[in-house]
Amino acid sequence: MYQLMTAGPTRVSAEVMAARSQPFPNPDQDHAFVEFYHELCGQISELLGSRAHETLILGGEGILALEAAIATLTEPGDRVLVLDNGVFGAGFADFVRIYGGEPVLYTCDYRCPIDPDALRQYLQTDHTFKYATLVHCDTPSGMRNDIASLCPLLKEFGLLTVVDAVASMFGEPVDVTKGIDLLCGGSQKVLSAPPGLAFVTISPEAWKFMQGRRAPVASFYANLLAFSRYYEEKWFPYTMPASDLQGLAVAVSRIAADATREARHAALATACRQALRQGGLTLYPESGFANTVTAFFVPEGLQVADVVRTMQLEHGIMISSSFGPFAGKLLRIGHMGENCTKDAITECLHSLQIALSKLGFEPKTSLSAAFLQGLG
Ligand SMILES: *Cc1c(COP(=O)(O)O)cnc(C)c1O
Repeated sequence: MYQLMTAGPTRVSAEVMAARSQPFPNPDQDHAFVEFYHELCGQISELLGSRAHETLILGGEGILALEAAIATLTEPGDRVLVLDNGVFGAGFADFVRIYGGEPVLYTCDYRCPIDPDALRQYLQTDHTFKYATLVHCDTPSGMRNDIASLCPLLKEFGLLTVVDAVASMFGEPVDVTKGIDLLCGGSQKVLSAPPGLAFVTISPEAWKFMQGRRAPVASFYANLLAFSRYYEEKWFPYTMPASDLQGLAVAVSRIAADATREARHAALATACRQALRQGGLTLYPESGFANTVTAFFVPEGLQVADVVRTMQLEHGIMISSSFGPFAGKLLRIGHMGENCTKDAITECLHSLQIALSKLGFEPKTSLSAAFLQGLG
């Protein structure tokens, strides 16, 4: 088996794997399980800035968080502002359409973060939207948007905000009290648990809004309102994936105990970018670099698939290709969560050097040495 250095799923600790293999309770009949779930949700909210914003953990991959947020907010005919400077940014429009809304795309240069000043000017001309969607880290291109500026701005114009932070939360600062109404997350990125769980963290205002909607939600599984009274009634809309949650609880406690994680992600990501640049590679973003993933162009004359396969078969490391408009163009190193250690990135860059060189691109310097030097 190979080691993961992908932008999700990430490596999973032995402690999380062990917790997943323990006996598990009946989630429907054991009230202690409801307490366990409720407290775990509370811990996630606290790590994201406030227990006043309720977290729900859903049985499903990260995409379910996005779909549930949109399904529960959207009523037929709603105008929705979709901030688009990446694959997941644009992708929100599909969910909005599926649930009867009318997406209005605000499309920007994919190599730059969304500029709050330009957005303000746009909103001054048109802000009759029910809510806006945006992505914190748009993983396929390694792009990070400044949600701490963008969300309060959107709120100034009276819009609810839906933020996809699946690939950033816990690796980059995220504070739900700074204008975030529905925050979407997943288990398989920075949290470093296997894929299979999604979370949505909901502001008191968004709860009120969703509860006041007139049209029924056009989904059962993606309906957040189905969880409205789970704690009072000790009843879940479906049987909770207990083993996944046991693993998640350990992953969350590891995150909570790791006081330096945001600084570490920033320092290691900065050094990784610097090493790739010094080696003669070109990063995709021009600014707004995410600290959880680095996306760079495959060197001219080389194929993305050959680099990924050589890394996997000859070095036992799987890195990410990309998709959508970036398929065949970008390679990505996912340095998030358990992947984000000095040793893991050093080993990855050392192997990448040999793989690129074998395939015909000779980096201008030792990538791993430049990385270590960049760390100081
Ligand atoms: C990983 C990810 C998701 C979840 O989607 P999958 O690609 O199916 O794992 C959603 N949004 C972002 C930004 C992600 O990185």
